[in-house]
Amino acid sequence: MPYTNQVTWLTNQGWDPRIHIAANGDLVNVFVLVTERYVILIDTLINPTTASALADFAQSFLSSRQLLVVNTHSDWDHAWGNQLFAGPNAPHPAPIIAHTECAAQFDSSETFATLKQMQQEAPDIFGDVRLTKPTLTFSQHLIINGGDLNLHLFPTPGHTPDHIAIYIPEISTLLAGDAAELPYPFARAATTLPTLRASLASMAALNAAAVLYCHAPPTIGPHLIHDNIAYFDALEAACRAALARGLDPSQIPDQELATALDCDFASAAPTTGAWAEVSLESRTAGHAEQLRLMLTWLTQSE
Ligand SMILES: [Zn+2]
Repeated sequence: MPYTNQVTWLTNQGWDPRIHIAANGDLVNVFVLVTERYVILIDTLINPTTASALADFAQSFLSSRQLLVVNTHSDWDHAWGNQLFAGPNAPHPAPIIAHTECAAQFDSSETFATLKQMQQEAPDIFGDVRLTKPTLTFSQHLIINGGDLNLHLFPTPGHTPDHIAIYIPEISTLLAGDAAELPYPFARAATTLPTLRASLASMAALNAAAVLYCHAPPTIGPHLIHDNIAYFDALEAACRAALARGLDPSQIPDQELATALDCDFASAAPTTGAWAEVSLESRTAGHAEQLRLMLTWLTQSE
């Protein structure tokens, strides 16, 4: 994947003007919320350079406001700019708020291994990254009272165990992070599939008028959550039917799985314009992996 330090600010296309969206190439979108009381960075991007772009942008709003940082989860594309805000010589000291599990993720050996690997792969991008944990953590629900806007932070585990989403009732807006995304939030283990789907359901239940995602165009709208739900429902139905026919998943290689289950990406995915643009990788290998996880979950839970 070609990494970049480029950060561009998206032109407002109809969302509340207090929400500013920064894009790091095609990789990820993050948010800066300017409330009466706080300027809140929702995620810190991939390294100190890209985080600096966020901090610089925040600067002009800070004369009468405090800076706060939120991590939706600990993944590298969301929280590897944290060192600008906490730790030795942090140039923009601010509380970094996240789920308690997010701090634990920073301590995991996988996170260290990912950092090492990516530093080797792209030293110019990740060479300076120093893993920096959140400094204020919660486990249930947290409200940031920004004066004009209240940010309700709540757990939406599944994609990762530490994931949180943010609902802002005053403007009926949900920041879904990676708990919903185009084409689907990536489950990494069979056991997390039910949690991931429960999180999608809890976000759908909010009925937000506007939903913004970290990996989807900002204009895609709330229906993406429902499309994600429909996708996993379709996978479950196809897998259940195949198992009922007596299919033995262990005999089928990944690249033949979708055909054997009669569930290729196009048939599982709602046929909207955005879904047509989904990458080949997500349609094939990624899709096969989700099918495999679903089969594993169904056979283990029987
Ligand atoms: Zn992400």
